[in-house]
Parts: sequence; C-alpha cells; structure tokens
Amino acid sequence: MKTMTPALKTKQKDIGMQCRACGAITDYDGPLPACPTCQQGWLDAVYDLAETADIWSQELRQREATLWRYHELLPIQNLDHVVSFGEGWTPLIRARNLGLMLGHPNIYIKDERQGPTGSFKDRQAAIAVSAMKEAGITEAVVASTGNVAIAYSAYCARAGIKLWAFVTSSVPPEKMREAAIYGTEIIKVAGTYDEAKKIAAEFAANRNIFLDRGIKAIAAKEAMKTVAFELAEQLGRIEHQKNPMNTFEVTPFASPDWFLQAVSGGMGPVGVMKGFAELEAMGMVDKRPKLGCFQVSGCAPMAIAFEKGLSTPENVMQPVTDIATLATGIPGQAYEVLVELIDQYGGTIRSVSDAEAFRALKVLAQMDGFSVEPATAVTFAGLINLIREGVIKPEETVVVNCSGHTFPVEKHILGDSFAREMNSTYHAHEDGLLTALEKLDGRIRRIAILEDNLDAARLIRRILQAQGEFYIDEAQNGREGLELIRKNQPNLIILDLMMPEMDGFAVVEALKSDPKLRDIPIIVITAKELSPIEHRRLNGKIKRLLPKGDFMDADLIKDIARVLK
Ligand SMILES: *Cc1c(COP(=O)(O)O)cnc(C)c1O
Ligand SMILES: [Zn+2]
Repeated sequence: MKTMTPALKTKQKDIGMQCRACGAITDYDGPLPACPTCQQGWLDAVYDLAETADIWSQELRQREATLWRYHELLPIQNLDHVVSFGEGWTPLIRARNLGLMLGHPNIYIKDERQGPTGSFKDRQAAIAVSAMKEAGITEAVVASTGNVAIAYSAYCARAGIKLWAFVTSSVPPEKMREAAIYGTEIIKVAGTYDEAKKIAAEFAANRNIFLDRGIKAIAAKEAMKTVAFELAEQLGRIEHQKNPMNTFEVTPFASPDWFLQAVSGGMGPVGVMKGFAELEAMGMVDKRPKLGCFQVSGCAPMAIAFEKGLSTPENVMQPVTDIATLATGIPGQAYEVLVELIDQYGGTIRSVSDAEAFRALKVLAQMDGFSVEPATAVTFAGLINLIREGVIKPEETVVVNCSGHTFPVEKHILGDSFAREMNSTYHAHEDGLLTALEKLDGRIRRIAILEDNLDAARLIRRILQAQGEFYIDEAQNGREGLELIRKNQPNLIILDLMMPEMDGFAVVEALKSDPKLRDIPIIVITAKELSPIEHRRLNGKIKRLLPKGDFMDADLIKDIARVLK
C-alpha cells in the first residue's frame, strides 16, 4: 500500500474498526488489508451512535439530498476529502402498474439507476475513492463484473487516482469501453470473475499498489448502508403523509417488510442490513426487513446452498449465464453473513433463469417505464415469483433495489427487428401517416375491453399496446360495451364480470344469442371467485378465464395470440 500523506490526516471523528473473525476493535485510520490482531479480512466500522442520533434529530431535515447527509456514520474523517458527483438520495418510487398486475399495492423501487454512472456501485465508488483520497493513495487496483469498473473509473478520474480494472472477457464490451473513457487501464481476463479477482490481487501485491477489497473492506458496506438510511427516511415520509393526524415533530423513519436485491458478492444486502441495525440501535426504526436475495440459475452458489440448508456456498467454477454482472461463483463469507441475517430476520435466497429475467425486464419497461439492466431484472423476476407464491404478502411493504440502468441494451433482449422500416416517400396527402403505418402490417386486429375499473382497463390497454398494433375499443359497462361490439365487430373481447348496468354474464349471453356476434372469442378477466353455477353460465362460451390481480402480461398475451390465430 502507498504511504499516507500525513498532512491529509486531520482526525475529526471516533471511528472504530471491528474484525468479524476475532471481534477485536481498533481505531479506524483508513483502509487496511486485514485485521491488525488476527490478520483476517472482514472488517466493519463502528461509530458513536447515541451522539449521532442526537445530531440527526436536530439537523438531518435541513441537509443536502446526497448520501453525505449521513456523514457522521461514514468512514471519512475530513469532509474536504470527499469525492462527489452528488450521489445518493435517489428517488423511492411506487411501482403502480406492476403492483396492479401482481395484485400488490406496496412495491417501491429505489431507483439506483439515477446514480452518476447508472448503478448503485456509485455509492461504493464515492465512499471507497474518498477514503483512498483521505489516505493519500494515488494508484489503485479493482476487480469487477462491470459496474464497479465504471463507477470507480469516474470517481478515480475526479480524485486524480490511477485505476487498474480487472474484468472478465464476458463483461459486455460497451461497459469496458465506458470505463476506458475515464483513462482507466482495463485488463481483460479470459476466465471467471473469481480468477480475475485473484490475478488483480497478485498484480496489486507485486506492484505494491492499493487493492480494493470489495465487500470485506469497510468502504463498500458503509456505502451500501446509505441505501437503508435513505429508504427508511423516504418510507417514513410516505407513511407520514398517509396519516395526516401524525403530530411528530420529526418525521420518523420506517423499515419496509422486505428488501430485495440481485446478489453477486452480496455486498448490497449485507451493507443495507448494517444500516438498519444502526437505525434500530439509534431508536429510529423498530424492525429490520426480511431479505429477498436473487441469483441467476447459471451461477447460484448461494441460492443452491440456501435451498439445501448448507452453511457454506456451493461454489460454481464455470458460471453459465449471459448476465455477467452476477457471475460471482465463489462468494465466500458473504453467504454466511446473509444466512445469519435471514435466520434472524427472515427472508430467502432464490434463483431465476436468464429467460425469466429478460421477461421481467420487458414487463417493467413496458408497464412502469423503468429500463433496467439484466442483473436488476433478476430482482424483479424474483419479486414476481415470491408474490405469486404468496411468500411476499399483499399487505407487506417491499423495496426493490433497482440497481442498474439498461446499459448497454443487450442484443439478445430485443434482437434486430425492434424498429419498422419506412420509406421517406410515402404519400402523406393521399394516405396520411397513420394509414401508411397501417399498411406496414395488414393484420391489425380490433379488441374490445369491457371493464369498469379504470386502472385495470388502463393496464390491459397498456399490455396490448406494448405488444403490437391493435385498435382498442373501451367501455365501462356491459350495455355500452355491447353497443360498441355491435358497431365495430372486434376480433376479440376482453371482459370483466362485475360491471354496472349489465354484468359480464349478461354480455356473454347477449353475444351468444346474436348470430353475427356469437363467434367472437371472449377472454374473461375477473377478480371474483366463481361459484359452480357461475362457472356453468360461462362454460363453453368463453375462451379463457384469467384471475385479475395476478395475471401477468405473458399469460394474457399468450391467450390473445392463441385466440386471434
Ligand atoms: C453489483 C451489482 C449487483 C450485485 O450486487 P452485490 O450486492 O455486490 O451482490 C446487482 N445489480 C447490479 C446492477 C450491480 O451492479
Ligand atoms: Zn481479527
């Protein structure tokens, strides 16, 4: 490690450093390669929490909207050393449409895509690079599955630190190029991430360059815990607003019931849970969330071990996945820590397939307007599974770490035919743009939606619009709907059962008794548990019955495609 510049060290806080292996607490004086007592690697920062609780109750509200608002509990002695792009305090946004689709009203997205380089690794880079600057470090080595390389590159450039980034050759070239733009030395390792990590460590040791130790180091976990501080503060405000009778002087923080994230090394959830532990110790929240951790099935050392009830991960030597961000086959101690947390506070570690992730990616983009990278889509696929299985209950509040932006848009998600070709010489005056577009696809179909719940109608319309071109007629009751159907003769009817004036059963009967309409296929979407008599009323008359609240677009689209064929 480089020697420290004494002038930079003006001590302002009492920060301790505790070793996970031996428990020894020593003074924190900047990043160290190991515990000074037992030489083990996993170190955690400890602070004077009582004093901080006091200060926060007075001052927090007036502070700037960055993660530095929590600086008392961050491992930087002197704020002059902070390297910042204004990171942190990303929005907490309700996933309204996804919630409607899953029948779950309390899904919140912590939008980490809005960091300066587009992923939550910006927090880690901000703290780790500031700590390097404070320690007088001028050159550093990092191993990365992609996003750490990009985030550290930006922060190191700003701090004047030369960076060596070791990445595997499976990291998308666009990501490597992005890191290289900042002047980072990119070393492509033909091998797994765990091999790249080893080579990076040897390189750093040989050249006597500072090595970033990721999750084992203090900076990474301290950075991730700011996600917990922020979301507890944001959730506290949201819950406070729901109940205007509250008369607290200071809006209290609130813990969600679940925190969800896709894990590779597991640094995110480990750090977030440390944040909740500190908030609880300060009396600011009264519980800790359950953890939902997700891996890809082609590289799931933690999920497999968790399912089997093992105390160490089932290491994966050859990951098989297109999602490079999550290809850590040897997660090490993080697994033990996560299992301990899950034993105590609840939760699970699961895996999803690449295909499930890509499907979730499209659903989230098309339903709620969030374009996320595949690693992040893994979390949403996991969320969908846990809600469908009833593991996450509708009344529980869920916060999803929306960890990274779609960057780059990977080819296998959209393929090459994502746009339609159009000639610039179409005859606008004759046809109009719409007609010209219509001619591109002669098979535009007409669908009638009869649904009195406007949110549900909007969701169905959105699902259809995202899939292709349809003419869509909508009516909010059976009587109007029937008139529309008579007039427009749609190719398909999507029908709700509970509607005013004329309900769905009556509509079905009217349609079946009209020779001109009786062959139009009907898909019924209903929130109602049907009685045997009601089932009989629909029997043989409709193509498909879909329960409202837990239909996913894939089901609906599959049915529509089948019916329209
Ligand atoms: C790093 C990363 C993850 C995995 O996070 P860990 O907490 O390190 O396991 C997930 N998603 C994205 C976008 C990432 O960059
Ligand atoms: Zn120790």
